[in-house]
Amino acid sequence: MTAPPSIADELRGAGLRVTAARVALLESVRNGDQLDVEAIASRVRDRVGHVSLQAVYEALHALTAAGLIRRIEPAGSPARYEGRVMDNHHHVVCRSCGVVADVDCATGEAPCLTASDDHGFSIDEAEVVYWGLCPDCSTARNS
Ligand SMILES: [Zn+2]
Ligand SMILES: [Zn+2]
Repeated sequence: MTAPPSIADELRGAGLRVTAARVALLESVRNGDQLDVEAIASRVRDRVGHVSLQAVYEALHALTAAGLIRRIEPAGSPARYEGRVMDNHHHVVCRSCGVVADVDCATGEAPCLTASDDHGFSIDEAEVVYWGLCPDCSTARNS
């Protein structure tokens, strides 16, 4: 029986220096739903005390570059981060309040990676954002 790798092991495995703030950050992103930077910073601070916003940005950048977290940035919204990576899922975003939810790939095994013309690129990701109104905002609009 081998224990699942700890967060610290994952950071080390990705070639990153392990700090209490990075461990807290990765756990916060994984446990949250598409958090923005402010929300992530406040969760990290709840756990490890004061961490500068600059340090949070740097850690987010390093973890995103290492593929441990994913950055999503719907047009006109602040960047958000999530722990669900490598599965080519998509997002639905509310035009009114900006709430974001995960949407599995529309037709199974990432067939939407098949561009009609790949221009010779080796494509590994398709970023699709569905825009509309969330249930709360559509109810508010219709009442
Ligand atoms: Zn909404
Ligand atoms: Zn997502």
